[in-house]
Order: sequence, then structure tokens, then C-alpha cells
Amino acid sequence: SERSYIMIKPDGVQRNLVGEIISRFERKGFKLVGLKMVTVDKGLAERHYADLSSKPFYGSLVEYICSGPVVAMVWEGKGVIATGRKMIGATNPANSEPGTIRGDFAIEVGRNIIHGSDSPESATKEISLWFPDGVNE
Ligand code: ATP
Ligand code: MG
Repeated sequence: SERSYIMIKPDGVQRNLVGEIISRFERKGFKLVGLKMVTVDKGLAERHYADLSSKPFYGSLVEYICSGPVVAMVWEGKGVIATGRKMIGATNPANSEPGTIRGDFAIEVGRNIIHGSDSPESATKEISLWFPDGVNE
């Protein structure tokens, strides 16, 4: 079944939103198959966001992801990549609908709480980057 890489960013952890976010994915019906807390080093953050390396905010994005521990997860279930993105909401919380995670809990694009894979290709890449030893069945 389909899998997505979902990561609670440092601000989400600092603001005690781990339980809230896990609960939303559980209640939706997805299955948690990988979970760990990680203090991210610069190299890992740079690889995770490699596609954005030409953007003006790349340096501050990498710094943000390294600013405290993240919660790295793999969630499984039908449509989890697209549905997970819907549950997360638009990149900029100014445009995120209420009811989405960013819409309910964030106001700044540079501190938007959570990451979700945007395609099957990026999910595969991100899961092997963050969980090189694999996840549960
Ligand atoms: P993510 O990949 O983190 O799930 P996303 O797919 O919604 O977010 P991307 O375009 O992949 O959005 O951007 C990655 C991250 O870079 C965003 O989540 C946000 O934290 C940051 N970012 C994006 N655009 C900007 C911007 N204009 N200014 C500052 N930070 C930005
Ligand atoms: Mg993205």
C-alpha cells in the first residue's frame, strides 16, 4: 500500500503538536509504520530539500529544520500522499484552509509545522533518506 514521509518540524515539536498531528493521521485511518525523533544535521536537511537549493530561502530553511529535534514518520494507506498533503494544507499558512494542520496552527511560511511528501517519487526518496534501515511491514 502507498506510503508517505511525514515530518513534524522543530516548531511543531516545540509547540507540543506531536500528539495532535499523530492523532489526526490515526483518526483518518492511516497506519503508522515508522517513527523516530531526530536531531537533524545540515547535510541531511540539505539533501531532504535539495530540489529547493536555488531558492533564496534555502539557507534559512535548512537552518530552521536543524533548529531542534523533528519527528520523522512514515504513514501508510490508500491515497496517503495526496490526502496527507490535503490534511497538511497549503505551504503558506496565510493560504491554508481552517481544518488543515497549517491552517489551524501556523501563521508563517518559514515556520509551518509539518512536511509531507508531494509525489510517489519524493515519498520513495524521502523514506530511504530518513529511514535507511527500512520501516515496519
Ligand atoms: P514541505 O516540503 O515542507 O512539505 P511544501 O511542499 O508545502 O512544504 P515546498 O515548496 O516544498 O512546500 O517548500 C518547502 C518548505 O520551504 C516549506 O514548507 C516552507 O517551510 C519553506 N518555504 C517555501 N516557500 C518559502 C518562502 N517563500 N519563504 C520562506 N520559506 C519558504
Ligand atoms: Mg515540499
